[in-house]
Amino acid sequence: MTHLVWFRNDLRVSDHSALTEACKAPGADVKAIFLWTPEQWQQHDYGLARQYSIRSALATVAQDLAQLGIPLTIVHADTWLAGVDQLIDYARSQNVSHLAFHREFGWDEVQRDQYTIEQARAAGIDTWIGEDRVGFDPASLLTGQGDMYRVFTPFKKRWLSQHAETPLPRPLPVPSPVAPALTAIPDIPAVNWTGTAELPLNEHEAHEHLSHFTEAMPNYKDHRDLPAVEGTSRLSAALANGAISLRQCMHSAFSHPRFDSAGVQTWLSELIWREFYHYLLYWRPDLARHEPFYPRWDAFPWNRDDAALQRWQQGQTGVPIVDAGMRQLAQTGWMHNRVRMIVAMYLVKLLKVDWRQGERWFAQQLLDIDFASNNGGWQWCASTGVDAAPYFRIFNPHTQSERFDPKGDYIRRWVPELASVNAAAIHQPSQTLAKHQGYSLPLIDYKRARAETLTLFKKL
Ligand SMILES: Cc1cc2nc3c(=O)[nH]c(=O)nc-3n(C[C@H](O)[C@H](O)[C@H](O)COP(=O)(O)OP(=O)(O)OC[C@H]3O[C@@H](n4cnc5c(N)ncnc54)[C@H](O)[C@@H]3O)c2cc1C
Repeated sequence: MTHLVWFRNDLRVSDHSALTEACKAPGADVKAIFLWTPEQWQQHDYGLARQYSIRSALATVAQDLAQLGIPLTIVHADTWLAGVDQLIDYARSQNVSHLAFHREFGWDEVQRDQYTIEQARAAGIDTWIGEDRVGFDPASLLTGQGDMYRVFTPFKKRWLSQHAETPLPRPLPVPSPVAPALTAIPDIPAVNWTGTAELPLNEHEAHEHLSHFTEAMPNYKDHRDLPAVEGTSRLSAALANGAISLRQCMHSAFSHPRFDSAGVQTWLSELIWREFYHYLLYWRPDLARHEPFYPRWDAFPWNRDDAALQRWQQGQTGVPIVDAGMRQLAQTGWMHNRVRMIVAMYLVKLLKVDWRQGERWFAQQLLDIDFASNNGGWQWCASTGVDAAPYFRIFNPHTQSERFDPKGDYIRRWVPELASVNAAAIHQPSQTLAKHQGYSLPLIDYKRARAETLTLFKKL
């Protein structure tokens, strides 16, 4: 019996249900496969950063699988559907009897998996599909009326009560080797991303990072909004490419000696936000087709100002905290959550650029791009989403900056033109200051832009 494990956004060997399932079959010959599909990724707006993240995690998986005696085949295909045909051809050529993989949400993902199941059945191959991306099957978390949740807090309560009744299983260990270690490791395409990653991308790095962060977890609530402090886990890219599993992260929170501390509780809550956004994508796969959750605001007269969009993308808006965030993104493929909210609100509610333009730019730049969380974050900021910020909530980037980067350290790190500006002046560089420092003049006047947006929203 030959078992084939299809690796996707689950690039690790521990707590990998599909791999464990294949390895536990007595005497099974186990093989692994990965579809390298740059054109498909491009269609989803995923950029080189995301490919780099996948490459980094996959290289480690290839080595770890070799230690377990499991060969990994990398199939190059333009699209997922073409890739599935190649996967089935490969499975046939290797007399594969069982194919195991984890379920994924999203429009194209669901079509791909349906097609896979049909093609495998036609080829006489059994399929085994595991739940890995989220803690619980979204179909099992419903309101008292049997409807989907549209508000985070009751969803979180339901999630926690489900966990109290049926706790998430303990993370699975790395399976025992099924054959002697292999020396041949497959070639993985190089990816020419030019940024510098400042967060873990592969399984080993992710676990090392999690164990450091676990010590700091009780302080999370106090530090998480300060972009100059490394107060968050930075596990988002590893969660997105699957180098670490949700269960492994949840387990570190649930088993924490200071579980009741505000820090651990808040971190748990953030992981449940991630669950919530995946839940929404499960129930509303059309979100993946760039539909707003509530179409109410779709008639907003978006500003089609390419020059403004470009200045935002390049971190040249003249608002220091916005520019710092956009430059951190360009240089490292990551941005602090508080700053993501500030730059998103600035683009949508002050420059009045369609939120989908920002969502797309993030997808192209982020190492941790995860469709559900990105879409959820953008729709929250644009007020088009579920349980989103009300339309009249418009962050003032200058006061946000004073509050969350009081000394200006974050700004100084990413906007070197302002390196010598003191904390009192750095949040609101006036036009004179901009001239002296060679820094961009402000693109818009905050007060005027805010008033215009509110008038437009009210008209709708
Ligand atoms: C406009 C916008 C776009 C975003 N795009 C993405 C994205 O593409 N991928 C992504 O993983 N996160 C996204 N987020 C959520 C959040 O900014 C990142 O998850 C977080 O900054 C990652 O840093 P961390 O790993 O240190 O998080 P921590 O604060 O340590 O949180 C732990 C984990 O919980 C999850 N998480 C935390 N906050 C959120 C949140 N608000 N929504 C959903 N999940 C959350 C992440 O998986 C994160 O790694 C976005 C937020 C906004 C406002």
